[in-house]
Formats: sequence, C-alpha cells, structure tokens
Amino acid sequence: MARIIEAPLLNGEGCAPRGSAVGAFGKLNAAAARGLVYDDAVKAETDALYERVRHVVPEFEWPAFAPLIAAINRLKREKNAVILAHNYMTAEIFHCVGDFRGDSLQLAREAAKTDAAVIVQAGVHFMAETSKILAPEKTVLIPDLRAGCSLAASITGADVRLIKQRYPGVPVVTYVNTSAEVKAESDVTCTSSNAVQVVEWAAKEWGVDRVILIPDEYLARNVATMTSVKIIAWKGRCEVHERFSAEDIAELRAAHPGVVILAHPECPQDVLAAADYAGSTAALAAYVQEKSPRKVVLLTECSMSDNVAASAPATDFVKPCNLCPHMKRISLEAIHDALVTMEHAVEVEESVRLRAKQAIDRMLALPKTERPLDFEVGRREVAVEII
Ligand code: SF4
Repeated sequence: MARIIEAPLLNGEGCAPRGSAVGAFGKLNAAAARGLVYDDAVKAETDALYERVRHVVPEFEWPAFAPLIAAINRLKREKNAVILAHNYMTAEIFHCVGDFRGDSLQLAREAAKTDAAVIVQAGVHFMAETSKILAPEKTVLIPDLRAGCSLAASITGADVRLIKQRYPGVPVVTYVNTSAEVKAESDVTCTSSNAVQVVEWAAKEWGVDRVILIPDEYLARNVATMTSVKIIAWKGRCEVHERFSAEDIAELRAAHPGVVILAHPECPQDVLAAADYAGSTAALAAYVQEKSPRKVVLLTECSMSDNVAASAPATDFVKPCNLCPHMKRISLEAIHDALVTMEHAVEVEESVRLRAKQAIDRMLALPKTERPLDFEVGRREVAVEII
C-alpha cells in the first residue's frame, strides 16, 4: 500500500489533521445531526468503499464518514444525480461518492455527456458554471457558494473587454479557471492539459504571431517556454501553486534523497525549472501510474497525493501540504445537504452562456490528445508581456 509522508510545511498553512479524534468527532456529529448512524446496513453498504481510502482514512474514523457516504449514494439514485469530483477533493469525496473524477477538462467533458438530471459539482464555483454552460437543461448544484477561486477572482468580463480594445485582432485564450462572464468575452478556453495546443491553434486561426493568455501569469510564462507564439499575460495567480518555490524543492531533495518532484504549471517558472516533470493534474496522475516512482512529491493541491495514492501502491508520497481553502469548502455534509435541499443551483444568464459556450466548444472541438501535455522542465525563461 502507498505510504503518505507528511512533509514539514513549506509556505502554506498545512493540512487538516488526518486520524485525529477531533476530526472524527466532528464528522460523527455532522452525521448524527442529520439523523444518520453507523449500523450494520451502512457497514455492509460501505465496506467495499473503505478499501479505496484505507491508505488515508484510519479505521476508527470510518464510522464517522460512512453514514454520510451511504446517504449521499442513496440520494444520488433517488434524484438521478451524479457527482463530478475534482482531483483536489478529499479522498472520501473523490473515491467514495464521486461518479466522475479528474481535472477541469475531464469533468467538463463528463458534464456535457451525462444523462443525469442533476449534477453536483464537487469542485469550485467556476467549474459548476462550466457544467451549467455545457448542460443548461440540467440542475447544477454547488454544495457551498463560498467555494470560489483566487485565480478566477483576479479578472472580470470588463477587464477582458478593455484588454481586447488594447490589443485589437489578437485572440484571447482564457484558462477555464475563470467565471462564465470572462469566458463569454474570450475567443477560446484552455486548460493546463491543452494550453500549448490551444495557443498555437489560435495563432494559426487568427493569422497572428501573438496570443493573449489569461489570467494565470505562471501558466502563461510556462506555456511561453514551449511555443514560438508570443504570449501576452495577465497577473492572476493561484494562491495554492504560487506558494511553491525552488528553495522548497532543494529542501525536499535534501530531506528525501532520490525523490521525484512533479510540479503543476500554475507554479512559478523557477519551480518548473527545478522539478523532474511538470504537467496538469491529469498528467501528474498519469506519470505516477505509468512510471511508479519509489518516492514522489506532487507540487500541487494537497489532496491530490491522497487521491493518486489509491492506484499507485508501489509509490510513497511525500506531501508538502498546500491546501486550497476554496476546494475544502466542499465536504461530505455540504454535498449531502445540497442533494436534500437541491441548493445551491447555479444559473448563467443565457446570452452569457451562449458566448461562453462558443469559447469552450472551440476548445472541445480540437483533436483530443492521446495524453495530457507534458510541460518541459529545466527550460530557460522566455519574455512575456504582462498587461
Ligand atoms: S487550487 Fe488554485 S486555481 Fe484551483 S480553485 Fe484553488 S485557488 Fe483556484
């Protein structure tokens, strides 16, 4: 079984304690407050699910999680609902109630295809908006309206309109981690799995040699090292990934000789220069599954290691934990309550939806790559114009 090794904290605030009596009591209280108990029927219903999270959930905690998990899975059947679980969800959500799991792009594709009447987005608000844009006839629920995103909050539709005035004729490629309003002002969206492909397509389609890639400055800088297209960027940041540094990598290598360091492209460029491999969350998961490194560090949101570990028994995960406070708003009890009350339904105004959909559809229409993009590590920095 994979081992999870908590690393001393780098720059972040640290993980919620796992295996603590306090955490387990909190969940027990949450279940009891909803009239849910751990009995023989719940045990029989959930024993197989426990095997998926045994590596991160101690046995004594399971009676606290199981009643909520069993209730959520029953509610999904009753309401014809599916749960889209992002890679940054905690393991009990990701593995025990998630119907579709993955990064933003994978979840967007599932939202477009599902026959379910209700989609519960176990992720943040912009992801729920994307689901609603692609599946307007469905009820899309976000279990906690406070689940925002520092990156999405860094830019507005009005900002994009001003950018277009300043750079007429230059295509706007927008990361999916943005509001519907921002997508609606954009020409095409991208994810970290396909950003280079989309940038090169946009430059060719518009017949230009430069592209506006917003709002993540570090993603834009990392893309710029891999293409001859000139990049114009915005100064948005992900508050989780911007905290990693090249010094952290040096400390991790000193403390764990031979460890393989994998980084997400929302990290600063010096982090990618010092890492062994970089890619989207889907690419990082694929790397671990294909290469089975003995010991690995994932420089991304904290829960990702717990989730990948379930299918990588030969790998030990050193976890320098940086939590996304927005993703962590989504809990089992919030998902349970969303399915009971059918709140909070996400709506996108129709004219905004149609324009945002056009930008997403352009991305989805591009040929699907066989595997997510590898970002090359150790590359020299390339000049990027910051708006
Ligand atoms: S991890 Fe970063 S980009 Fe993702 S939701 Fe959190 S703040 Fe936003």
